[in-house]
Amino acid sequence: MTRDPVFERDGGRCALQIAGVCLGRAGNADHRVNRSQGGHGRPSNKIAECGSGTTGCHGWKTHHPAEAGDLGWYLPAGADTLAEPCFLRHAVYGPGWFLLDDAGGFAAWALPSREAALAAVACRGGS
Ligand SMILES: [Zn+2]
Repeated sequence: MTRDPVFERDGGRCALQIAGVCLGRAGNADHRVNRSQGGHGRPSNKIAECGSGTTGCHGWKTHHPAEAGDLGWYLPAGADTLAEPCFLRHAVYGPGWFLLDDAGGFAAWALPSREAALAAVACRGGS
């Protein structure tokens, strides 16, 4: 049986680790854009989590969709999962904000610099 790249990426541990809720070991790789919303099955759309739809961090996420959305754990239909960062408490590299890729990797995400933000505004040609 081949290992799921999402479990490899997240070290087999739950990457959410919500205090008082987390069960530790990842039991499933949950979707950020739900499958029912057209979410794909590639690694950038999945996070290793403990529990199920009603228990552990997965259950917390299900019952707190707004908070989970703020953390990038839930994304709306059509969201670019490669461009939307998420907050992970990775066993080795976290906690922090990360961009996930579809090869099973991730990179630390930083807020765009003020200069980059101003340049983006200038490129839109506002007067
Ligand atoms: Zn957990």
